[in-house]
Amino acid sequence: MTNAIIIRYCEIHLKGKNKGFFEKLLKENIKKTLNGINYTFTAMHSRYLIENFDDTDYDIIIDKLLKVAGIHTVSRALVVNNDLEEIYSACSYLVCDKFGTFKVETNRADKTFLPNSVETSTILGGRLLEEYGEKIKVDVKNPSFTVYVDIREDKRTFIYTDIIHGISGMPVGSAGKGLLLISGGIDSPVAGYMMSKRGMKLNCLHFHSFPYTGEAAKQKVIDLTKIIATYNGGINLYIVSFTHIQEAIHENCPEEFMITLMRRFMMRIAERLAIEKGDQAIITGESLGQVASQTIESITSSNSVVKMPVLRPLIGFDKNEIIDISKKIDTFNTSILPYEDCCTVFLPKFPSIKPDLNKVIKAEEKLDIEGLINEAFSKIEKIEL
Ligand code: ATP
Ligand code: MG
Repeated sequence: MTNAIIIRYCEIHLKGKNKGFFEKLLKENIKKTLNGINYTFTAMHSRYLIENFDDTDYDIIIDKLLKVAGIHTVSRALVVNNDLEEIYSACSYLVCDKFGTFKVETNRADKTFLPNSVETSTILGGRLLEEYGEKIKVDVKNPSFTVYVDIREDKRTFIYTDIIHGISGMPVGSAGKGLLLISGGIDSPVAGYMMSKRGMKLNCLHFHSFPYTGEAAKQKVIDLTKIIATYNGGINLYIVSFTHIQEAIHENCPEEFMITLMRRFMMRIAERLAIEKGDQAIITGESLGQVASQTIESITSSNSVVKMPVLRPLIGFDKNEIIDISKKIDTFNTSILPYEDCCTVFLPKFPSIKPDLNKVIKAEEKLDIEGLINEAFSKIEKIEL
């Protein structure tokens, strides 16, 4: 009896002629995330199998697989020969610490194995009841757990009771490249996760305002990017100092447009970096109407300085929904650490909620836009995570 992990993938099935490309990417991404761990990898029909790993790596491997976009479910399975006694031993091993109602579901690809699948389920179920009848009961309609018995043509049987859901989606690298504008907040890391799930490879860009924002605020963004990187297979984080730009806006432009003008600079710098790095889209964590800078007028104003598509995967999400995802992906506790973001540094008392684009453009005329952007670019810092 040996341990194995069954990996099932999802939307890849739908891709017709491109199926090979998606499968290859998923396989590469799995191998990348399991780098440094000893195991063997086998491709079976629409599934992958991980075997021959050290038992102490079992949980680590499962945790890593549950972060790989494109994986629909994984199961911890026991593997035995196609032999009824061996199969029963494995079933008994899996059920010994379980309570509640159950059923046995057999799938028999090996037609030389007798009895047939229905009879096998009945025999196994009967023996389990004999052995554990005090704490388990059969319920074929709505069991609290199912014992799956997969009798395969290669003369091996897989037995498992758990089907753990992964993040599904598409393999990272299958949907182009994007530049995520990442703050230290709750929303943008979630936006990065959402795009990873859809198969987009990410770079990240963060603006900090040293000395108004400190080392801790920067470290927080590095930590958040590291978490997103576990879903994206490694990320380059670019950090740009925003201090001079903010000071220039603060000194030369009406206070009410502070945030609007900052956003326009962020977008311009993002587009320039994205083009340089071969990214095809800019990604933000904006959600419609969440704050003054996320009204449709504010979004229009920041969007109008770039040509590249701006993807906003959270646009229709409520804050609570975003928080739920951030807890699930493990960014929440880092996001709520109380360090200042550059956006809170020069926050006006009464920001313009519906900025008039003509007035915004007029306000900006006082600034040396190109000069400020060039200066910001000259000091860009890159961190590989
Ligand atoms: P978040 O929770 O992601 O910080 P938010 O609710 O605070 O978002 P805003 O401050 O309006 O909203 O920011 C909107 C988006 O602009 C963010 O989701 C992020 O994509 C980008 N952004 C904001 N601040 C920064 C920053 N310092 N560096 C890079 N991008 C930023
Ligand atoms: Mg924020």
